[in-house]
Amino acid sequence: MTDHTHTAASFDRDSTPWDLEDDCLHEECGIFGVVGMKSASASVALGLHALQHRGQEAVGITSFDGEEFFSHRGIGHVAHVFNNQDLFAHLPGKMASGHVRYATTGGSGLRNIQPLFADLAGGGFSIAHNGNISNAMTLKRDLVQKGSIFQSTSDTEVIIHLVATSRYPTLLDRFIDALRLVEGAYSLICMTPEGMIACRDPLGIRPLVIGRLGDGIIFASETVALDVIGAEFVREVEPGEMIQVSHDGKMVSHRPFGKPAARPCIFEHVYFSRPDSVMGGQSVYEVRKAIGKELAKESLAEADLVIPVPDSGVPAAIGYAQESGIPFELGIIRSHYVGRTFIQPGDGARHADVKRKHNANRALVEGKRIVLIDDSIVRGTTSLKIVQMMRDAGASEVHMRIASPPTEHSCFYGVDTPERNKLLAARMDLQAMTDFIQADSLAFVSIDGLYRAVGEQQRNNGCPQFCDACFSGEYPTRLTDLIEAGKGDDVKIPA
Ligand code: AMP
Repeated sequence: MTDHTHTAASFDRDSTPWDLEDDCLHEECGIFGVVGMKSASASVALGLHALQHRGQEAVGITSFDGEEFFSHRGIGHVAHVFNNQDLFAHLPGKMASGHVRYATTGGSGLRNIQPLFADLAGGGFSIAHNGNISNAMTLKRDLVQKGSIFQSTSDTEVIIHLVATSRYPTLLDRFIDALRLVEGAYSLICMTPEGMIACRDPLGIRPLVIGRLGDGIIFASETVALDVIGAEFVREVEPGEMIQVSHDGKMVSHRPFGKPAARPCIFEHVYFSRPDSVMGGQSVYEVRKAIGKELAKESLAEADLVIPVPDSGVPAAIGYAQESGIPFELGIIRSHYVGRTFIQPGDGARHADVKRKHNANRALVEGKRIVLIDDSIVRGTTSLKIVQMMRDAGASEVHMRIASPPTEHSCFYGVDTPERNKLLAARMDLQAMTDFIQADSLAFVSIDGLYRAVGEQQRNNGCPQFCDACFSGEYPTRLTDLIEAGKGDDVKIPA
């Protein structure tokens, strides 16, 4: 058994004066891990920096030097928490993994910042998770009844307890045994004294890719993080695949869950991934442009200018402009010193942020009929403000076009969306939404248009090629916690 003297907690430093409690289990995250590389923790920090868009609230890195695990975690951006080169001296070793995290309104606690770490019977075990476990509460209740003591309110911690209490002899078998009980979405990077284990849930809902740099093996949520450290993209971790990497770089692939039809998240293409990533073999940027083209074919507006809501609407607006022949112009200028609007907790902060973040390019917009393009409408806050901003700047007509179908359903798989009753499209029909955002017209791309843009001829209605539950309400897994809470009446889930 590995001698483990520095627990993950022993190096914890809270980077900010506050420490908020988090009782919500929803998370949106990015993960990154390397094995067999010098200064592994510094590479992880670089990789996480490229994944910052996936979570801006907290960050953690854990490393292993062949004997001990070390960890540093804090609230804030990667550049803020890892602001000093000397920190990496406290994270020694050739294996390291890290996590950027976004927690919903309600905040987060330092104790929920990943990678989570535990000393198990066979040695240290660290885990970084992107996704959301849809039966975490139910599993936690059972575990607590049997005596487990939880350190965090993160859904990820149930995996640690399930591994700890499994009766199988090897750690790998205990891990597989644990994951058989888990439902929902998980891309995981785990570290043990023997090496790294990376895996994706059987449906591959959340992404995870493999890269190589010299003798080092890398796992990352998105290819952009490989680019940033100069690593070459090898392939995606397959849905349901579990890959063990030893310290000498030997990789062994396991398929403990068979090969069910994959259902990767389509919202990664719409919004979440960076446009310079490649996902499912497709350039996210090109897919977004293709969505814009579909949108123009389906809902052409008579207008003088196509204007994106920056940055998320830019590629789709380029596609819309190319297809329609209407000139593309930057009618809204974005300040790059404000974070993602949606991510700010509380409606008040969100409203103020939209104003600080975007400003009308009045000289361009005045007297023009414009088509505004954004990737999605969630609560409607952004669209309402932006339409108003365009009118205040003198636009004569404002037509809103959205590069995704109406977001009518909550996500339980790690893309944080608010409760259903806060989603504009769940509360209103198209006309009411148009009136709410005060646009002259509003249209969303159809679900078939979206599928065409991701390279499918059509959506396979019996068994869709993607998880599109936020648009269709068809969830690919059971949602045990939701049902146990008596809130599952209007969801469509597999029998
Ligand atoms: P809202 O103002 O609530 O309608 O949010 C819509 C804006 O938030 C859009 O401009 C999107 O770019 C962005 N957005 C959509 N979904 C998410 C998400 N899950 N996390 C963060 N931002 C999002």
